Amino acid sequence: MNADAGTIAMPDTIDEALDAMAANPDLIPVAGATDLFVHWPEHLEAHERSYLDLSHLHELRGITFTEETITLGAGTSYWDVIRDPRFRDELPILVNAARTVGAVQIQTRGTWAGNIANASPAADGVPALMACDATVHLASAARGETTVPLADFYLGYKQMRREPDELITRITLPRRAYDFQYFEKVGARNAQTIAKVGVSMTHAAESGWRIAAASVAPVTLRCRNLEAQLDDEGRPASPDDFESALQADGVAPIDDIRSTAAYRSKVIACIIWHALA
Ligand SMILES: Cc1cc2nc3c(=O)[nH]c(=O)nc-3n(C[C@H](O)[C@H](O)[C@H](O)COP(=O)(O)OP(=O)(O)OC[C@H]3O[C@@H](n4cnc5c(N)ncnc54)[C@H](O)[C@@H]3O)c2cc1C
Repeated sequence: MNADAGTIAMPDTIDEALDAMAANPDLIPVAGATDLFVHWPEHLEAHERSYLDLSHLHELRGITFTEETITLGAGTSYWDVIRDPRFRDELPILVNAARTVGAVQIQTRGTWAGNIANASPAADGVPALMACDATVHLASAARGETTVPLADFYLGYKQMRREPDELITRITLPRRAYDFQYFEKVGARNAQTIAKVGVSMTHAAESGWRIAAASVAPVTLRCRNLEAQLDDEGRPASPDDFESALQADGVAPIDDIRSTAAYRSKVIACIIWHALA
């Protein structure tokens, strides 16, 4: 396996992949390539980088349901979740999120792990997973496996708790009897759009509320202050504190090509308010 500049290394096992990452932390892992190669033709400097193709690693594929946990191998695509009836029954929030990602071509190639590692604050998979208390499992040849709750994974814009020699190997979710699941993405149109604002919410008696917001901060946010304001019926302690709780959670949208800060601030509060109502 050769990882010289401008090449694509193709490991046969996870161990081989981790050894390659240890030997050359500049290697860029590639899963579905739907983020990485989107600007390929014009980003000439990217042609000189070295890549590690994970797409055919069978060890990274597969979805497992045990009594307590659901595991998505890092190679799990959106389509793998859409077509799996267990998710339709138990976690429709993930199916709904997956169905809004690009079109079928992107859903069949793009992975949940790639969505996490790409670290876009406008991602659709990340907030849905965050609302389900996902844990990210990382591995390196030097340090073995570590886990990080997805809600604590991001440190700033495109900054995350992933070392250069680490790969995401899987994502785990606790199995819960959710009585409420909600995914909403506001875009310029209904399909093939990047979120102006995104919200994912769950409620279960055992865990309480989980609310994750996209496109309103440099990272996907878990809104812990707002969650703490809500009783089990979703009633806020004080309606007046609703927007200030969101601000305390770090909701601080910006103006960009997709929307304005003012629109995002209003819409995020409205979506959550109406979902709770
Ligand atoms: C036309 C189009 C439409 C899109 N629409 C949407 C959309 O609606 N919503 C949305 O959220 N996204 C969208 N995307 C972005 C993209 O499809 C998703 O983010 C997808 O989940 C990326 O997964 P991937 O497997 O293709 O990642 P890749 O492109 O292979 O990689 C993305 C990043 O993750 C890293 N990476 C991948 N796997 C691992 C791993 N196992 N360990 C460590 N790092 C890893 C890569 O190095 C890279 O930095 C769209 C993209 C395109 C081209």
